Amino acid sequence: MTRFVDVSALRRIVNRPGAGRFLSGLAAAMREDFRRWESFEKSTRLASHSEIGVIELMPVADGERYAFKYVNGHPANAKRGLPTVMAFGVLADVETGYPMLLSEMTLTTAFRTAAASAVAAELLARPDSRAMGIIGCGAQAEFQAIAFHEMLSIDELRIFDIDTSAMEKLARNLSDTIELKVTPVGSSSEAATGADIVTTCTADKTLATILTPDMVEPGMHINAIGGDCPGKTELHVDVLRSAKVFVEYEPQTRIEGDIQQLSGDYPVHELGQVIAGTETGRECEEQVTVFDSVGFALEDFSALRYVYELAMEFDEGEDIELVPDLKDPRDLFDLTKRRAG
Ligand code: NAD
Repeated sequence: MTRFVDVSALRRIVNRPGAGRFLSGLAAAMREDFRRWESFEKSTRLASHSEIGVIELMPVADGERYAFKYVNGHPANAKRGLPTVMAFGVLADVETGYPMLLSEMTLTTAFRTAAASAVAAELLARPDSRAMGIIGCGAQAEFQAIAFHEMLSIDELRIFDIDTSAMEKLARNLSDTIELKVTPVGSSSEAATGADIVTTCTADKTLATILTPDMVEPGMHINAIGGDCPGKTELHVDVLRSAKVFVEYEPQTRIEGDIQQLSGDYPVHELGQVIAGTETGRECEEQVTVFDSVGFALEDFSALRYVYELAMEFDEGEDIELVPDLKDPRDLFDLTKRRAG
């Protein structure tokens, strides 16, 4: 049988340890998987673009497990009462091809993106970082704030969104959840002022320049997660030129990340190499670092195997007959003869 984890089951799984501890556990699983980067069969994701959005399939496998995620990105969806990003995923056994887990991944993606951002920042931000600016206060923002509070001891946030109701929502949700000083401000520039780390998580299918060189201070770490599609960026190209740039999987980020604005041979560094200790992260106090995150299938693999482990441990979700349970595996036709029910 296949374990099915829907949104309610995932919520119960997260609530057992609490969001902060769930995130730390997920980050640990991700570090483990990034450390064995070479053992994964990797590919760029398969994207189907329309004028207003994208639908993507993200596969990855090691010798034991195969995972894929279906995910979309439609920045105008909120007007239709739908999230910008929606997802589900599958974890399967490589030996037999049997689907072990079918899981919701909208909530899981927010957790995994925040965990990846925090894992990167642990290696790239200055260790004394305490203040973060968040630009874009939509669905991902709370998860980013909680991850940085939990894993990097960020205790002060300056937040900005062009939609004031999004800022109010973020401030309200955070005041209900964690001990953090949250200050809503009137511009991206004010959010970046005095910040050790700036997270950009806006959604707009355009070559936006949310962060310009005048907003960047020496020693800043920029966690750019919203520029994740061809023709969809957040950083002014000179911000990238002034920084040491880190990516998840270089061939994919060249197409989708903020570095799509740079030539194909512009030097960038893979996060997995830094986690494995074969590349250096930040080199000095004054260096500006950028994590040009687009989201990579390996992060979803880590999330799916972590959710599967917790679902089995807590006995959450349910077993469903996604694949026929047959007495004789070659007698598939027998199913058509059985009565309904
Ligand atoms: P969302 O639509 O819920 O929120 C986006 C917010 O950005 C909205 O509140 C909007 O008002 C705000 N915004 C748009 N333009 C702005 C601007 N110029 N200045 C300030 N705020 C602005 O989207 P979300 O689910 O929070 O996702 C945010 C972004 O992150 C999206 O672009 C999404 O594609 C991307 N994303 C990336 C990853 C990754 O792994 N890198 C994962 C998930 C989502």
